[in-house]
Amino acid sequence: MAINKSNKLLVRADLNVPIKNGKVLDNFRIIKALTNIEQLKKISKNITFISHLGRPNGFQEEYSLKYIVSEMSNIAGQEVQFVHDCIDLDEKIFEEENKIFLLENLRFHIGEEKNDLAFAENLSNPFDSFILDAFGAAHRSHASIVSVGKFLDSYQGLLMQKEVDSLQSLLTEVKRPYTVILGGAKISDKLNLVNNLLPIVDNLILGGGMCFTFLKAMGVNIGNSLLEENFIKTAHDLLASNYGKKIILPADFGTTKNLDSNLRIDKDIHEFKHDDIGVDISKKSIEKFAHTINNSKTIFWNGPMGIFENSAYEFGTKEITNLVSNSNSYTVVGGGDSVSAINKFSSLDKFDHVSTGGGASIEFLEGKKLPGVNIYKSLII
Ligand code: AMP
Repeated sequence: MAINKSNKLLVRADLNVPIKNGKVLDNFRIIKALTNIEQLKKISKNITFISHLGRPNGFQEEYSLKYIVSEMSNIAGQEVQFVHDCIDLDEKIFEEENKIFLLENLRFHIGEEKNDLAFAENLSNPFDSFILDAFGAAHRSHASIVSVGKFLDSYQGLLMQKEVDSLQSLLTEVKRPYTVILGGAKISDKLNLVNNLLPIVDNLILGGGMCFTFLKAMGVNIGNSLLEENFIKTAHDLLASNYGKKIILPADFGTTKNLDSNLRIDKDIHEFKHDDIGVDISKKSIEKFAHTINNSKTIFWNGPMGIFENSAYEFGTKEITNLVSNSNSYTVVGGGDSVSAINKFSSLDKFDHVSTGGGASIEFLEGKKLPGVNIYKSLII
């Protein structure tokens, strides 16, 4: 993009951050969205950010992007001016130079999720050029992702490019041994991911709730732990396949009899009673996983090893966070809960790439073509 001081730049970012009582709880996505702000200033008269926030039903004040303005201003190092809507705007607002604007939540208008062309055109009206930099929303065919660009000179943003390059490298030119660590609640949510990655990886470590369906498929007594009956056969077939020996499962767990109790008893997987619930992985599992992690040259991690929101059950996720943080390998983390775990137990800068998009990064690694990826020209500044 040529340097152009008359350029009114529109940037679709992912500013979908957790907010409670009007306070931003985690500013990771805001920091990422503003990483390249100084470079964008060089190619624009002013910059206007747009984003969705949560899943509002029409206008709902608790989903207003006004709550992120002060955090955004602090990070940008200049005042961000909030505009109380995103369409039918007075174009005179955007005549001022060197300003950063933030428009109201795109999803307050039904046209955003319906990918309505008239909405996209209205949204684009005051601007000259467009950068799509919202990787976390790139798996959605929404107006601000796939249609606004039809009305403006449009580019794929620098953050989006880094996301795509980092994730693409996990599907192609990896340094080996290559280890993928998956946790989280359900295997059904990550089955396509497992199917796409198993032929590529050297090791697939499974923890969290999802590992119990695999253990059950091996005939192990998992007590009352999370089980997806419909996927026992799938898990069995994966374990019996040529790739089965790549799958590494936990050896022991933190257990409880009642999820509200905070009580934890650690036991070997073969010691489970019928009413035991596995809520976290334990020491022997960490030792087993550490051996593989420490010998890896590439690691992708997505999903917690236990119900880490409860401090009684955070041990396994904390240990995995530290093992991956301290590893010398190329490390990539999918978004979502793993980012919360890193913020809690380590630091984001200890990883080579932390994705801003949980759902989008999983769909990308499933091998899907995301509607918003690689649809615009590369941005070269
Ligand atoms: P996901 O969104 O699929 O990555 O799942 C994240 C959720 O999985 C977190 O809220 C964890 O509390 C939950 N989780 C992790 N381990 C377990 C487990 N052993 N049993 C039940 N839920 C779990």
